[in-house]
Amino acid sequence: MQAWTSEGHRAGANQDWQDLLSASLGIDGDWSPMLSSILERLRRGVALSLSDGVQLFNHPDLHEVGRLANCVRTAKFGNHAFFNSNVHINQTNICVLACRFCAFRRGPKAEDAYAMDIDTYLNDLEQYAPFVDEVHSVGGLHPKWGVEHYESLFQACKEKFPHIAIKALTAVEIKHLGQLSNLPTLDVLVRLHHAGLHSLPGGGAEILDDEVRAIICNGKESSEEYLRIHGEAHSIGMHSNCTMLFGTIESIEQRVKHMISLRSLQEQTGGFQCFVPYPFLPDDSRLPQAQLATGTEILRTIAVSRLMLTNIPHIKAYRMNIGDHVAELALQYGADDIDGTVQKESIMHLAGSNAPLDHDRARLARIIEDAGCIAVQRNTTYESFSLFEAPTIKPRRSLKMAQ
Ligand code: SF4
Repeated sequence: MQAWTSEGHRAGANQDWQDLLSASLGIDGDWSPMLSSILERLRRGVALSLSDGVQLFNHPDLHEVGRLANCVRTAKFGNHAFFNSNVHINQTNICVLACRFCAFRRGPKAEDAYAMDIDTYLNDLEQYAPFVDEVHSVGGLHPKWGVEHYESLFQACKEKFPHIAIKALTAVEIKHLGQLSNLPTLDVLVRLHHAGLHSLPGGGAEILDDEVRAIICNGKESSEEYLRIHGEAHSIGMHSNCTMLFGTIESIEQRVKHMISLRSLQEQTGGFQCFVPYPFLPDDSRLPQAQLATGTEILRTIAVSRLMLTNIPHIKAYRMNIGDHVAELALQYGADDIDGTVQKESIMHLAGSNAPLDHDRARLARIIEDAGCIAVQRNTTYESFSLFEAPTIKPRRSLKMAQ
């Protein structure tokens, strides 16, 4: 089995990706004339501007935007596309906030409110432990669980399952722990890192615009706090992901500004490894003004992300949210990573996702290969990789023709 490693900040990207990109963009004549200034910037390694991002969102030829994003993807990773073996455990749905887009949170007295104590969490994880190397845990802001609770949870987890990396707690959960335990967020991060927290997921960024946040997630961390907490995590050697929830009430310009805010922090810290853009899944009760993003809108947003965020190594197709079919297409529109085997997940499924949860590695690899890529299994922080060798898949039987 072919295996290799990479430093965390490069996360497996080719060192000479900028040269490869310039070569793969070819000549201006291969592209629409209106893209010429964007091509020029990409060739020179200059970050795209706000107006470039808006232009890409409005460009009449979606496939051309996808082809451009695909040039960046292949310059960075060749034809490799990545996945990992993970499980999502959402430790509690009890939350002191009530964000308007959230279908997951419950008040403490709700019939279906739950909070896993440490033993329940460990027993749950035990079922998946032989098959995974990452547990992804985010949940509600529990009114009583302070930093001590999570220290005990992570220590117990590391003791029992030392091979499993813990990717847990969004920025607002870190902020909440700081408030409950009366500690600065940096101290919370230092203590949890010491207890076994490996990296932070990127959830909760939504749209980094405080006017939008005041409407869709009033009371959550501000844009500045989201960025500060991730910057603090990076400063103590933890990597993190970042996200964007699109399709609520934001404008195209606010989406692009969101990407630029993340890119600016990345310029300072280099600690983001993956950007995960995913659409809001609306229903009649939450943000009724929002509309379900179409497949082309999702693909375009992923492609623009790849082009705006050339300093963040990976762009993820979050199949829990966009489903397997769009995720597969996204691998041709700039995404290079597909969320893992997952096994169990509540937040997106309560919001309406019907993405399958029982994918084994061979089925994930099949999605990647059908998209024309080579499946590579990675560890949680993109530092070790191995080419996935799928067991031979039986050829499909063709249907008998009617006589
Ligand atoms: S999004 Fe998070 S913070 Fe907001 S209500 Fe849901 S669980 Fe609570």
